[in-house]
Order: sequence, then structure tokens, then C-alpha cells
Amino acid sequence: MTHSNDLMTFTNARVHETHLSQPLGVADDGGFHRVNVTLQGNKISDVTAADHTIEGTKTDLAGRILTPSFVDCHTHLDKGHIWSRQPNPDGSFGGALSAVAQDTAANWSADDLKLRMDFALRCAYAHGTSALRTHIDSQAPQAAISWPVFEDLRDTWAERITLQAVCLVGIEAVRDTMFFNTLAKRVQVAGGVLGAVTYMVPDIKDLIDQVFVTAKDLGLDLDFHADETGDPDAVSLHLIAQAALRHEFSGRINVGHCCSLARQPDDTALGTLDLVAKAGLSITTLPMCNLYLQDRRHDGTTPRWRGVTLVHEMTSRGINVAIASDNTRDPFYAYGDLDMMEVYRMATRILHLDHPVGQWPATMTTAPANLMGIAPPTIAIGAPADLIQFRARSWTELLSRPQSDRIVLRGGKQIDTTLPDYSDLDALMESSK
Ligand SMILES: [Zn+2]
Repeated sequence: MTHSNDLMTFTNARVHETHLSQPLGVADDGGFHRVNVTLQGNKISDVTAADHTIEGTKTDLAGRILTPSFVDCHTHLDKGHIWSRQPNPDGSFGGALSAVAQDTAANWSADDLKLRMDFALRCAYAHGTSALRTHIDSQAPQAAISWPVFEDLRDTWAERITLQAVCLVGIEAVRDTMFFNTLAKRVQVAGGVLGAVTYMVPDIKDLIDQVFVTAKDLGLDLDFHADETGDPDAVSLHLIAQAALRHEFSGRINVGHCCSLARQPDDTALGTLDLVAKAGLSITTLPMCNLYLQDRRHDGTTPRWRGVTLVHEMTSRGINVAIASDNTRDPFYAYGDLDMMEVYRMATRILHLDHPVGQWPATMTTAPANLMGIAPPTIAIGAPADLIQFRARSWTELLSRPQSDRIVLRGGKQIDTTLPDYSDLDALMESSK
């Protein structure tokens, strides 16, 4: 029997440079360093170069990849896993909106939400995620049902996943000042983040101003869904960046989607990105959802663009860019399991995050942690021993398989990575029929 304070070392692991607090020796072509990672109890007690002699208990990883745990900074736990009872009739954005509205009214009781959200968290945890932000549909009367469920789950899951929530309302809801202020105060009580979906209504500028004023008054961070469309005239990201500068906003601002940038002339799009960099906004791209919804056609023709935003132009300007899951098995995305390794694999293919891989692996750890204002998962002395081992030694080996056999350690202990059974949701799916 081993004592919890005994040292245990994983020798000869490959750790990407973005997942180490400091480089050790020379990285290989994929940006990996060969290191030994020593655990003591629930913490990492030492990180040394692989040629360093290790005493005591050790496991040779033979050059296999070791990462810290993942951060998923943009999800919709409240919508998740409703597909079986409420599919999207045609895979379109409009179809998703009306399908979700119908399901919300018919089924989103506290019990229904709690079971689906917990199911989704069990998936995320098994895949290796240790922090997650969810948007919460917050129109009346749903907010009063959903926010207490979120708070309850946040407390129940506190030791396993750090949870944050953002209120989600259409920007037009901000016109009702009484409603929006009440919602913002509810968000503040829950330690949440103020959010809205921005699109080009005539008074968009005033409404965005109102969001900033409210966030400043209550000391809240901001998180927007912006320009999730192929329409080049959708420029709300530009207006958000201008507002951030005008209000000298000092909180964190994250903006998700920004799909229309990819459909605008270069000078327009790049001008906006210069402003985004100046305003210090973070951007989250949701490649799987964007690929699914954007440019979907109903005339028998094939989509012509990938739906995603200009991440390469963003990082070259020093903008903090994260990648996240977005929706899972709901009318906005028929698939997904809150597996950040799947999201990263898909992102690599859709957004060309390879040749070279460069700093992109930070998009699933440090970048989302920064915009959430939490400590980034990292492999460093004193960091929690939250680690994922993959049976792969290079990017091509890592990204060619689903990595369903990964080993996840939390607090130095291997966790059960068995995924919840879909039949756990059967009772809910039948309830609406
Ligand atoms: Zn979203």
C-alpha cells in the first residue's frame, strides 16, 4: 500500500511547450519537450528533463503525450441532449431557434435541466475537462428555473469541474431595462457573467452601451455571442470593441462566433481585428457548430465555406483565441460530447491549426482559462496533478484517433472514464411525447 505523500514519476513524457510553465531543453518538430513529471499526493512536485535520473516509483510513458486537463469556455449545458425529443427539422439556424423555443416551453423543468446538465458534465469530466463555462437561456420565466439548477450543480461539481455561467438573451431583451437589470443582479448573485446575443437591429449601438453600463455598475465580466451568420453586414463585433474602448471597460470580455468576419472584405475584417486587439477582447471560435449551421443550404447544393472566424489573423495581432464545444446534441448541433480533444482535432482540420502547430494547443488550456479568469491548467511544480495521458507520440498519432483510451488523472488519481449511458436520458425523452 502506498502512502499518499509518496512520490510517483511519469518518465519520458512528451509535453507540448504551451502546456509547460517553462521549457526544458529543446522541443521536437511538434513542439513537444521530453520530460519527467513527479507527483506527490494531488500535486505536481517536480518537472525535469527526460535525461534526469529519477529515484523511486516510476512509470515509463515511452514518449507518449501528456497534457494538463482541458478548459471548455463556451457550452450550452441547458440545451444539451434534447435532440431525441426535439431535433432540428432542417439543420438551419432558424430551425434551431424555433425547435429550442418549443422544447424550452414544453420541457425545461428543474428536474429535466438537472439530469441533462449532469449527464453533460459527466461526459466532460470523463474526457478530461476541469473547468467549463455554460451559457444559460435567461428569458422569462426560464431564468428563474435554470439559474438555481446551475448554482446547485456548480456546488455539487466544485471538486471536479470549475463551473461558470453566462446569461443568454437576445440583444433586444436589453430594451426592457427593468428586465435586464433584474437579470444582471441575478447573474451577479450567482457569481456569473453578463451576456447577450448581438445582431444588427437598428438600435444595436445603444443596446450594447446599456450592456456595458450594466456590467460596469455590477462589476461583471462580459461574454457575447456575435455575428453568428454569413451576412457580411453583421458587424456587431466591431461595435462591441468600440464600446469596450469608449467605456474604458476593465473587466474581461469574451466574444464567441464572429463568423461574418470571414465573409467581409479584408480591409473591413482586419480593421475590426485591429480594434479588437486594442480593446483587449478575447475571441472564442466554435468550429463544430459553425461548420454544422453556417452555409447550410436547402436547394440541393453543397456548402461553400467553413463557417469559422479568422483565428490566424487574430493570434497574429496578439488576440487571446480559445476553442470550445458550443452545443451538444441539440437543435444547434446534432452531435458532440464535450470532448475538448475532439474539438481540437476538428479545429485543426477546419481551421488549419497545423504545419506548424505553433501555439495552438494553448487554445484548449491557457487561452480559455485566461478569458474565464481562472488559473490555467499547466504542467508545473505546484500545479494540481490533473493530467491526461494519450497513447500517441506525435500530432498525427494524437489527432488520427478519437483517443477514447486516454487515461485521466485528477488530483493524482486515475478516474473512471466510462461515459454515461444514453439510456440515462430515456425517461426525459419520453416525457414530452
Ligand atoms: Zn453558443
